[in-house]
Amino acid sequence: MTLTHKKSLELFKKAKTCIPGGVNSPVRAFKAVGGNPLFIKSAKGSKIYDADGNEYIDYVLSWGPMILGHAHPQVTRALKKTVENGTSYGAPTSLETELAEMILKVYPSMDKLRMVNSGTEATMAAIRVARGFTGKDKIIKFEGCYHGHGDAFLVKAGSGATTLGVPDSPGVPKDYAKNTITVPFNDLMALKKTLEKEAKNIACMILEPVVGNIGCVLPRKGFLEGVSELTKRYDIVLIFDEVMTGFRVSFGGAQKAYKIKPDMTCLGKVIGGGLPVGAYGGRKDIMAMVSPEGPVYQAGTLSGNPIAMTAGIETLKILSKPDTYKNLEEKAKTLEDGLKDAAKMAGVKTKFYRAGTMFCTYFTDKEVVDYKTAKASDTGRFARFFQEMLKRGVYLAPSQFEAGFISLAHSQKDINTTARAAYEAFRKA
Ligand SMILES: *Cc1c(COP(=O)(O)O)cnc(C)c1O
Repeated sequence: MTLTHKKSLELFKKAKTCIPGGVNSPVRAFKAVGGNPLFIKSAKGSKIYDADGNEYIDYVLSWGPMILGHAHPQVTRALKKTVENGTSYGAPTSLETELAEMILKVYPSMDKLRMVNSGTEATMAAIRVARGFTGKDKIIKFEGCYHGHGDAFLVKAGSGATTLGVPDSPGVPKDYAKNTITVPFNDLMALKKTLEKEAKNIACMILEPVVGNIGCVLPRKGFLEGVSELTKRYDIVLIFDEVMTGFRVSFGGAQKAYKIKPDMTCLGKVIGGGLPVGAYGGRKDIMAMVSPEGPVYQAGTLSGNPIAMTAGIETLKILSKPDTYKNLEEKAKTLEDGLKDAAKMAGVKTKFYRAGTMFCTYFTDKEVVDYKTAKASDTGRFARFFQEMLKRGVYLAPSQFEAGFISLAHSQKDINTTARAAYEAFRKA
C-alpha cells in the first residue's frame, strides 16, 4: 500500500510562503522524522483524513485534548447551539462557573480557578501568582518538563525544544532565565542540594507529575512525595502542570493517581475538548492574590468564552459517566499489550511506558527515568518506525519525545490494526 501525499505537499509549500516553517506550532513540521506534514481536512472518532483523502488511526488527538475522539456528536451539537447565541461577549456567563465547578469537584486541591486560553497562559500566570504570593523571584523546574513557551520555561524544556535541539531559545533575556533553576526529574538528591543553597529565594516549583513532553516518563516511587514534602518544609508553592496529565492519567489527573495535593494546578488540553482553553487554580489564600480579588494582574479578552466552555462542559459530562475511565483503561491496556508484543515478536528492544491514556515507546533498552535517559533513545530508528506506521495508516506524533494518546473512540479493530502495523514497522525500522 502506498499513500500519496501530493496535495499535502502542495499545501505545505504554499504555507511556507506565509507562515514560518509552514506551521503554527513547530513539532507539526515533521522535522524530527523527515518528510512533509500531512494537511488534515477532517476528523471523526478515532480517524483523521488528510488532503489527499487518506485515512489514519489517530494517536495524536490534537496533542491530547480529543479524549472522546474527534467531532463527538454530543459536543458538536452543543457547540452549534452555543454558536447561534454569539461567540464572545467579554462579559461573564454561567458557562464559566459551570465548567469551573465541574473541574473543582474532580480536583479538590483547588479551591478556585481562573480560565485562560492555553496551557502556556496557565503556567505563565501560575508562576506570577506564586511569585506575588511569596514575594520571591526564582522558580525550580525539572529538565525535560515542558510548560508552554513562556520565557521562564524555555530552559531545558521538552517537546519541540527537545526535538529541535534548542534547549534554550534566543530571545529569552539572560537576566530573566537566571531566575529559572533546573533539576533532573526523579532526582531527589539533586533537588535537596539545590534547596539547601537556594530555598530562601524560591517562589515555586513546577513540574509535570508524569513527563509527557519527553515521551512518557513516570515518577519513581517516592519522588512526588519527596517533592511535596520539600516544598512544605521550605514554604515553596508546589505547582503541578497537569495540562497534559489532567483527565488523562486518571479522571482526577496525576494528583489523584499519586495521591499528592499540590498548592496550585495548571490545566488545559482535555478541559477545552479541542477548543483553546487553559486554567490555573489552587488554594484559596493563593488564588486570592489574583486580580481583581488581589493585586496580581492577569486578564484575557477571550478567556472563558462560551464556545470553549461549552466544549469543555460536554467533554467532562461524558468523562464523568460511570465506567468511562474503566473503558479507557481497558483500551489503553490492550494497546499497550499489542505494541509490546509487536516489538517483542519483531525482536526490537524498546521500553514502553504508560500512565492512563498517555504512552510512549522508546527505542532504547535502558530504563527511561529522566531527560538524559530519554535522549539516549535511537531517534533514527523512531523516525523509520514513524514513517512505516504512517504508510500503514497509523498517525503517531512525529517525534520520539512526544506522548501518544488514546481516546474513547478507538475500537478493538483500530487497536488490532495498529498492533499489526507496529509489528511490520518494528521489523522495518
Ligand atoms: C501542552 C502543554 C502546555 C502548553 O499548552 P498550550 O495550550 O500548547 O500553550 C503546557 N504544559 C504541558 C504539560 C503541556 O503538555
